[in-house]
Amino acid sequence: LAAAYTILLNGGPGLDAVVAAITVMENSGMFNAGLGGVLQLDGVQRLDASLMEGKELKAGAVAGLEGFRNPIQAARRVMDTSHVLMTNIGGRRIAQGLARLPKPSKASLEKLKKLLLREKEITSLYRKYFSTVGAVALDKSGNLAAGTSTGGTYAMLPGRVGDSPIIGAGTYAENATGAVSCTGAGEYILRRALAKETCMLMEGGTPATASRRALK
Ligand code: ASP
Repeated sequence: LAAAYTILLNGGPGLDAVVAAITVMENSGMFNAGLGGVLQLDGVQRLDASLMEGKELKAGAVAGLEGFRNPIQAARRVMDTSHVLMTNIGGRRIAQGLARLPKPSKASLEKLKKLLLREKEITSLYRKYFSTVGAVALDKSGNLAAGTSTGGTYAMLPGRVGDSPIIGAGTYAENATGAVSCTGAGEYILRRALAKETCMLMEGGTPATASRRALK
């Protein structure tokens, strides 16, 4: 909050505030995002992030990014191209020069080993752990922005992508309505395009009532 709020107080864009807040959380290693992103079942961290601003509806996202600590910054770079979503080689190229991820820690490899021993229960384990990070901001010019960053879910098959890098599902921002970042089981959020649905419900209600109706 402090990193983001300083930017907003100085009249900076909401988009920069969202990137700053999420970068702090990605660097902390305390969340399932960036440094702390969970391993997929083959032992690799593949990170997802997305970002959107509400004035011109510009958006950027990366899915399954390997080797970089701040996927939200890679998403910011994608926003400056003519594309919205990059995977694999395109994502890695665009992230060139950003901070690298260290090899997974012994502790996270141990955790994965234990998890693999319980392979039969993976579907139920999957639902237990969510700690994706997100931020929304409103700047002095009245522009909204939203962003989301995640390592995915606990116990996921290699190559799985959830809602977080999908504009309209995990992230949405539009000045006329609102800004939304989602967390939870991505497969359900994707099917409802929940971030956009919540935004649309805000046309006639508060963020709280819109969220409640969207979840219902
Ligand atoms: N929504 C994320 C995903 O499905 C997980 C989370 O929110 O923790 O990848």
